[in-house]
Amino acid sequence: MKILHASAEYFPYIKMGGLADMLASLTKEQAKSEEVYVALPLIGKLGKSPQYTGKEYPALLPRDRQTDSLVVSVLKTSRFLEAEEGGVKLYFFESELFQPLDSIYGHAEEHFRFAMFSYACYCLSQILNVDIFHAHDWHTALSLALQKDSVKQIPSVFTIHNLAYQGDHPYWMTGFLKEEPFRLITSPFEHNDKCNYMKAGILSAGKITTVSPGYREETMSEPNGFGLSYCLRQRESDYTGILNGIDSEEWNPEKDKKIFKTYSSKDWKEGKLKNKEGLYKEIGRPFLPTDTPLIGLIGRLTYQKGFPNFLQAFLSRRHLPHRYVVLGSGDPETEKSFFHLSDTFPDVFYFYKGYNESLAHKIEAASDFFLMPSLFEPCGLNQMYSHVYGTIPIVSRVGGLRDTVEESNLLPYKTGIVFEPNDASSLGYALERAKDLYQSTDRYIVVENIMNLNWSWEKRKKEYQSVYTKAIELKI
Ligand code: ADP
Repeated sequence: MKILHASAEYFPYIKMGGLADMLASLTKEQAKSEEVYVALPLIGKLGKSPQYTGKEYPALLPRDRQTDSLVVSVLKTSRFLEAEEGGVKLYFFESELFQPLDSIYGHAEEHFRFAMFSYACYCLSQILNVDIFHAHDWHTALSLALQKDSVKQIPSVFTIHNLAYQGDHPYWMTGFLKEEPFRLITSPFEHNDKCNYMKAGILSAGKITTVSPGYREETMSEPNGFGLSYCLRQRESDYTGILNGIDSEEWNPEKDKKIFKTYSSKDWKEGKLKNKEGLYKEIGRPFLPTDTPLIGLIGRLTYQKGFPNFLQAFLSRRHLPHRYVVLGSGDPETEKSFFHLSDTFPDVFYFYKGYNESLAHKIEAASDFFLMPSLFEPCGLNQMYSHVYGTIPIVSRVGGLRDTVEESNLLPYKTGIVFEPNDASSLGYALERAKDLYQSTDRYIVVENIMNLNWSWEKRKKEYQSVYTKAIELKI
């Protein structure tokens, strides 16, 4: 089967969050048995230099070359450059639209840039004549609308990674979608008087998936549907939740070159201790006690991640022996509060502002617990990375977190500590339970259990395969 994925992110080239990791690891697994292609934008600053094969493909279909609008002329000068990565063929969309960017999101004209990328992905799917076209999130959603209107429709799947970001733009900005080469009727995509790319994807795709069964359920009502729950309910029978897997080569304490000492479920006590010492030294806090619980937090500092609740719980539980290491950037107010805590309580709290892949691995390896206070979480990856690193996750009961972490009273089934979402008091009690668990020998059983959990893609890959088969059946 030939599968083309269209995405704005792909690890290690462009990564802003879980989408990059999920797609890179899924495609690596799919490539063991299928022909797998990925279309992604070529921005000026990539995380790694691509291994180009020298082959290139147009970004405009021959029949669309006839007209002479601005859109067409930009696409005429754009192209896909083929590269290879671990058995997967990558197609970098080279265009003046993306070339000047050093990061993928947050720039003006996103409505135009991603619409053009979506057209180009649609064009590539037709040229490569793939069996399945799989688009991810709003950035590539319009390609599904183009696919649906196409004479030669390719069976399609749309994966929602985060419904909070919908690519909704004022209508006056999106008039070009009615013209060549798009020729789209955009009124069905209207939502709150705006043209909503996410809605276009939901209505146009053959099949829809999201990244956990728990999140699927939550998105079909408000507030987690972010206004689009009615569309998802309309498509309920075509909508599946498939939990993300993790890349067990990239995130593996037995092989990880980014951490201070590799370890397994046999020698984790010594391994984690060495990693804690190494981390404390690296962050300039070598005086911190290594026999007190270390709690790691990593993530984009956005509303979704629920950090204000953590701040409240932290202050109310100052008497606990926990140490905290936080890595992230985003909301300036949250950054300011974290810097303030870092300055005020240097023996308890450390904050690193920024994006740092290698520090993320070191925190996972060194921490005893990993805290995720999310208000909503489509899947979440760090709780699964934490499991394999023997780091007990403390998570809110939402989305993919509730699908992957269970606070059972029966020890063999306990895989973490779970608290109620958006509830600082419940989070405070969770921090207390973490202290109790740390001081009890039950912790050894929990750590050994979680290190043996299997979050690999082997099983999930089959679930995607079954969705693909159903999408193909729709077209027969
Ligand atoms: P989301 O996609 O909502 O950001 P996920 O938990 O699905 O959340 O994935 C986040 C991924 O990005 C994880 O691999 C996490 O370690 C990584 N990450 C987030 N922020 C940072 C950061 N500041 N430095 C390094 N890695 C980060």
